[in-house]
Amino acid sequence: MTSTDSAQPLWQQQLDFDQQHIWHPYTSMTHPLPCYHVKSAAGVSIELSSGEYLIDGMSSWWAAIHGYNHPRLNAAAHQQIDKVAHVMFGGLTHEPAVTLAQQLVELTPGPLNRVFIADSGSVSVEVAIKMALQYWVGHELPQKNQLLTVRGGYHGDTFAAMSVCDPVNGMHHLFKHALCNQRFVERPALSYWDDWRDDAVDSLRDAFEQHHTQLAAVIIEPVVQGAGGMRMYHPNYLRELRRLCDAYGVLLICDEIATGFGRSGKLFASEHADVCPDIMCLGKALTGGYMTLAAAVTTTEVAEGVSSENAGGALMHGPTFMGNPLACAVATESLRLVAENHWPAQVAAIEAQLKTQLLPLAQHQKVADVRVLGAIGVVEMRQPINVAEAQQLFIAHGVWIRPFGKLLYIMPPYIIEPEQLTQLTTAISAYVHG
Ligand code: PMP
Repeated sequence: MTSTDSAQPLWQQQLDFDQQHIWHPYTSMTHPLPCYHVKSAAGVSIELSSGEYLIDGMSSWWAAIHGYNHPRLNAAAHQQIDKVAHVMFGGLTHEPAVTLAQQLVELTPGPLNRVFIADSGSVSVEVAIKMALQYWVGHELPQKNQLLTVRGGYHGDTFAAMSVCDPVNGMHHLFKHALCNQRFVERPALSYWDDWRDDAVDSLRDAFEQHHTQLAAVIIEPVVQGAGGMRMYHPNYLRELRRLCDAYGVLLICDEIATGFGRSGKLFASEHADVCPDIMCLGKALTGGYMTLAAAVTTTEVAEGVSSENAGGALMHGPTFMGNPLACAVATESLRLVAENHWPAQVAAIEAQLKTQLLPLAQHQKVADVRVLGAIGVVEMRQPINVAEAQQLFIAHGVWIRPFGKLLYIMPPYIIEPEQLTQLTTAISAYVHG
């Protein structure tokens, strides 16, 4: 442990300790990027201990859709903690888990009615993959044990999830020799806004034709590829994928962890293509960004396959904090807010404003592309962004935006006011013109 200078304020001392002892997401321990110390957050504003107030453009990575310190989410947490914060889910159940599962069955498309409550998005992807593999073991087709996916995808940081992330550009190429060997096809070529061409699914169709006997499932982020490049692809691709899955007997897993609960302008992004997956993964905004919780929701058909005697009779997953009552209680309240249905107008207004304020940046020579879908705005630069420098500029503009690679992107809380959103887009514009 390193000594700290006690003349500094406590938050400064903590920053020093943090820099030397704590890992942050995807950073070096020896050359970490600078960090900012948060004192509190409310609505769309993050208060730093150094005194600045920042308009949040990130929703803490897609999660805080209702904003921070929400009175109803706070109340749900307070009420639940006085009853029971956690109790094992093996052999026990409770109101928050049952209510949450009822809501998920209600909100997701009709056939999805069996709920596994997992502890993080990546874990829900692991569970979805296990469901798919066990399903085929149940049907006495254990050779159907591979996943097919598109390049440019991202599904989490655990090992099975990493095996279906983009194998080249993904963050996980370092582990490629330790990962299960999955099948990849090219990323969907046509963007959300392109005119559809039937040949856009040729390589997908070929992959099904050649490999369907080994394929357990396809996993894909519906319509919006997030951490793999913030690309929005044509909904017909997903529609065609569903058709091929049905034709060849392959399950479809839609990873709605980032897109779920309104972010893309639909409650679930798979609705852009009117597609119902066999398994849907949900996370992030599930608790309104309060704590970690996720779900893998599936059909009776899949659940029966997984639970058949051939497949061992049980789904082989059961984490210690499964169905955590505190997280479920907050999620329940968050989903009540979603069900009150203010989000469609809020997301539509954000989309319209982002289009007006960000699309003109596409003319700038340093900008490769600008895309807006729902409450997601992306400015793709031609050159990689220096994160530390950009961050300083954004903080000077009173906003919290965290770029990665060549991408400047925002997905603010749905409750953001127009002038607060303008502050975000003005900061982006200042970066582009700087
Ligand atoms: N899938 C997608 C599409 C994601 O965006 C993420 C989170 N970045 C995950 C899975 C993994 O979720 P978690 O970080 O909660 O494990």
